[in-house]
Amino acid sequence: IIKIENLVKRFGKLEVLKGINLQVKRGETIVIIGPSGGGKSTLLRCINKLEEYQGGKIYLDGVDIDEYDVNQLRTRIGMVFQQFNLFPHMNVLDNLILAPTKVKKMPREEAIEKAKVLLSRVGLLDKIDAYPEQLSGGQKQRVAIARALMMDPEIMLFDEPTSALDPELVGEVLDVMKDLARSGMTMLVVTHEMGFARDVADRIVFISQGVVEEEGPPEEILRNPKKPRTREFLRRIL
Ligand code: ATP
Ligand code: MG
Repeated sequence: IIKIENLVKRFGKLEVLKGINLQVKRGETIVIIGPSGGGKSTLLRCINKLEEYQGGKIYLDGVDIDEYDVNQLRTRIGMVFQQFNLFPHMNVLDNLILAPTKVKKMPREEAIEKAKVLLSRVGLLDKIDAYPEQLSGGQKQRVAIARALMMDPEIMLFDEPTSALDPELVGEVLDVMKDLARSGMTMLVVTHEMGFARDVADRIVFISQGVVEEEGPPEEILRNPKKPRTREFLRRIL
């Protein structure tokens, strides 16, 4: 569903992505790990056209993403960030129905019905009228996931979705993500939650210094990493 070829991204003189190659099949869950500053967030942002890039190609279903306009692309690719990015002045329901009614011109009643279904799915139907400040971090992040799902994306990108959360709230968000992965969603997840990676990932991709240093099934990468950099990184975080 996604094919990334030789992706190069620079910020001025700093080359952050130095020829990334990665393929993602429909329904796969890929966990991306790697040292800080290695380019993980930048890679996700390029896929969603939040960043321009200087070299290489990204294909979605065989079509260069340059061919898609940004809104069209972002209805197909949802993204959830470390910070929750809910609109603070809107309640949960309005946060959810804003994009589908505006971008997809979905009728309001239909959007509300859909919002209810998705809020039940993340276990937060009772918070439909709450404002973001009345929610815990874990609840906000589950609302952010439901909001992304309102657009019926084919792919979901997660950039450290649990790293701003108190430890006791991490599990509820990971559980929602696990359900989503099991339902067949294609997911790219930057996270340091190795339990999640082990249980859910089809592949772990280790990105360091702007390249894919190593990738493989979780058993292989976690138990028997081949590259010294992967070993060193895992030794520090596990
Ligand atoms: P972390 O694990 O800390 O989130 P990361 O792997 O996500 O790290 P990126 O955020 O992709 O890393 O950053 C890669 C490099 O690009 C870093 O050196 C960072 O300083 C640089 N960078 C990121 N965004 C910008 C920007 N808007 N302008 C200039 N440099 C940037
Ligand atoms: Mg990052």
